[in-house]
Amino acid sequence: MGVVAMQGSFAKHAYSMGRLGIKSRAVRTPEDLKLVDALILPGGESTTMTLLLENEGLWEPLDAALETLPVFGTCAGAILLGRQIDDERVRCFNRIDYLAERNAYGRQIDSFTTSLIIPSVMENDFHAIFIRAPKFHEINADIEILAAFGSDPVLLRKGKVLVASFHPELTEDSSIHKYFVDEIVLKSR
Ligand code: GLN
Repeated sequence: MGVVAMQGSFAKHAYSMGRLGIKSRAVRTPEDLKLVDALILPGGESTTMTLLLENEGLWEPLDAALETLPVFGTCAGAILLGRQIDDERVRCFNRIDYLAERNAYGRQIDSFTTSLIIPSVMENDFHAIFIRAPKFHEINADIEILAAFGSDPVLLRKGKVLVASFHPELTEDSSIHKYFVDEIVLKSR
C-alpha cells in the first residue's frame, strides 16, 4: 500500500494497514509510485498538501498513477480527489465527481466524534472522528454512498476511488481499510 507522505496522518494509515498484515510504503517520490499496488491520500491540510505535492514534483506523477491505481482518500485527501473547488490554493485530481466544501462543520474546536452505521462494510457501528471535515455537495448520481452522518454523505465510493470525510486511521478498527483492500484493491486487479 502506498501512503502519500507529504504531510498529515500518513503514519496512522500505515498502522491501520499493518493490523491487516499489509505492508505500506511512504510515497514521497515518483519512483515510490512505481512500487505500490494502491494508494492512500491521507488527511492533513489540502492547501499545504497541494503546495508540497507541486514543490516535490509529485502532483503530475500522482495524477498519472491515479489513472490505474485504486485510491482511498481521507478528509483532505478526499478534498483533493474531488472536482476542482473554488480555491486557487487547492488543486484537485478530479477522480470522483463532487464539490467538497472545506471545514464545513467549523473550526478545529468544532471537531467531533460520532457512531456511523455502514452496513456494506461492517456489522458493528464505526467510531468516526471528524476533524475540520469537509462536506460533499453536487454528488454525481453514479457515486455510491456507503455512510451518512445525518443528511451528509461521509463515506463514498466510485469504482476504485473510496473517500471518507472523517479519519478511519485514528481508530483501532481497520474495517474500512479492510473494505478498501478486499472490495476495491483486490477486485480491481
Ligand atoms: N480542513 C482540512 C483541509 O481543508 C482537512 C482537515 C483534515 O484532513 N482533517 O484540507
